[in-house]
Amino acid sequence: MPQGICLYDAQDRLQLVNEQFCKIYNQEMAKLPIGISFYDVLAYSCAIGNYPGRSVNDIYSLRKAFIDKRQKGTFLQELGGERLIAISHQPLEDGGWVCTYEDITERRRAEAQIEYLAQHDGLTKLPNRLLFNSRLDEAIDQARCGVDCALLCLDLDGFKDVNDRLGHAAGDVLLQEVAGRLLKCIGQDATAARLGGDEFAIVLPNTSAVEAIKTAQRVTSRLSETHSLGTFGEAKIGVSIGIACAPTHADAAGPLLLLADKALYAAKYSGVGVPLLYDEELERLAVELRDKAAASRKGSAPLANEEQSRIAVLANDLRTALHEGHIHLCYQPIYDTVTRRPIAVEALARWSDPIRGSVSPMEFIPVAENSGLIGPLTEWVLLSACRQASRWREPVQVSVNLSPLNLSQPAFAATVARILGESGLAPNRLVLELTEGVHLQKSNVVENCLRDLKVLGVALWLDDFGSGYANIGYLRRLSCSVVKIDRSFLAPHEKQREILSGMIALVQACGLRVVAEGVETSAHHLLLQELGCDLVQGFLFGRPMAPEQIDATLLLGAESALRDRVA
Ligand code: C2E
Ligand code: MG
Ligand code: MG
Repeated sequence: MPQGICLYDAQDRLQLVNEQFCKIYNQEMAKLPIGISFYDVLAYSCAIGNYPGRSVNDIYSLRKAFIDKRQKGTFLQELGGERLIAISHQPLEDGGWVCTYEDITERRRAEAQIEYLAQHDGLTKLPNRLLFNSRLDEAIDQARCGVDCALLCLDLDGFKDVNDRLGHAAGDVLLQEVAGRLLKCIGQDATAARLGGDEFAIVLPNTSAVEAIKTAQRVTSRLSETHSLGTFGEAKIGVSIGIACAPTHADAAGPLLLLADKALYAAKYSGVGVPLLYDEELERLAVELRDKAAASRKGSAPLANEEQSRIAVLANDLRTALHEGHIHLCYQPIYDTVTRRPIAVEALARWSDPIRGSVSPMEFIPVAENSGLIGPLTEWVLLSACRQASRWREPVQVSVNLSPLNLSQPAFAATVARILGESGLAPNRLVLELTEGVHLQKSNVVENCLRDLKVLGVALWLDDFGSGYANIGYLRRLSCSVVKIDRSFLAPHEKQREILSGMIALVQACGLRVVAEGVETSAHHLLLQELGCDLVQGFLFGRPMAPEQIDATLLLGAESALRDRVA
């Protein structure tokens, strides 16, 4: 018989016990004589260590109360060593009773294992979609009672590349690494799950939108640190994160997932490279991006595979370069035509790649924009430029180039404020150059961002004027204080003088100052002076130079720069 069995008479005296019972409760129990009382059986069982931490009187009073009820029943008993015994109790007509005992430890373990496997991802051991959904439902139930929760949808950037380069086994190790880091970024009551492939999600119960953004930022920075993949080497990846909150955005799991997913889409394909919180504007942005992607798939010839993989490799290397400090800045001064003093310095990003050599920003900025790296790159440029400028002896402005995507990032103005605080640079010494080459979308996110930047007290300049879409309305909307005429207008042209003169007059008539970019020759300089151009920048006065050089250069005026050129 697979079960243990014990028979007691009406006076609770042991009448029969089988071998299986002794196997379950220890062979020592076989020494018990027939006729011994139930209390003594329990006392002996306790003494040989079957019930660690429990007293015989406790166990006896519980069992005795049950026996005296004279009812049939089954209950579970825990023994030492985490064993679980199912006991079926049956009263007999003569006043005695019989119990059968079954050791169900293994069965329970197997059931628990099956349940675990059904609810967890085999590779990363994180909850799978099934368990995730139930955790999300629980959090949303609480949100309906006034305890907000947040949902983060994550998609890894550059994971496919690791899989392609290092193989699937390396990809698996990377996913496990990611899972470990996610768990370190969240609290005990949060759930991080793998929903499939390189998609993850996090439910944060009892969490506000602001806290959710902070967690997402922590995840972004943890995941973008180098991953060591053992024998497979190392890998760098990024992550795109979309966030939606309950009950603010939705109060049911389905809609909330949909909105976090839309925010994720916008975060991934707008290339901002930072977590995005859902809002209606973002929804419009996501639709726009999707339409654009569809149109470009239809309209233009698809990129050749080779070109696609060249860009993917470039994006991956750029990510590494950013983390390993292979990006640096150089500075080009901008002089006042009348006073001949430097009034500002433009920070220009440089990538020195150990294999490719120096990669031009004209090449890597578009890659950054298309791979989610423009956010972190701009942030790095801003912080470095502000820190360096705060140490210059000549307190001129420092200008940093922005990508239009930076302005679609809802927290961008807050990032700028934080960087100003961290570097100690006065806000009015920071200039942000907005390129005119790409038309800024008219959306609330962009408008709010421009407004917040103005409130911060930083200056906005329009770059590359004449090369794109700008009109007078646009100049007003951006509330720029300075306009930089694109350097193509200095190229020899029979109507060069008239065109330049018209452009300078137009900008000045709007009450703005004007910079001529790309001033290479004395003839250019002379012409610009004659046309009353306010400011000049170009190789004639100095090529973009290393940070160590700029401080000394600033102390000298334009005359000195020109003298050096002639000498
Ligand atoms: P930009 O903002 O119009 O910067 C001026 C560019 O003109 C720089 O090229 C500079 O080296 C070049 N330049 C300056 N004076 C002369 C000159 O007299 N003659 C000629 N032929 N060129 C001159 P660079 O550094 O290659 O940068 C190219 C563009 O890349 C920049 O154009 C800017 O749009 C972008 N860029 C550079 N750094 C950053 C950055 O940190 N973030 C973003 N978003 N874009 C950047
Ligand atoms: Mg510029
Ligand atoms: Mg320019």
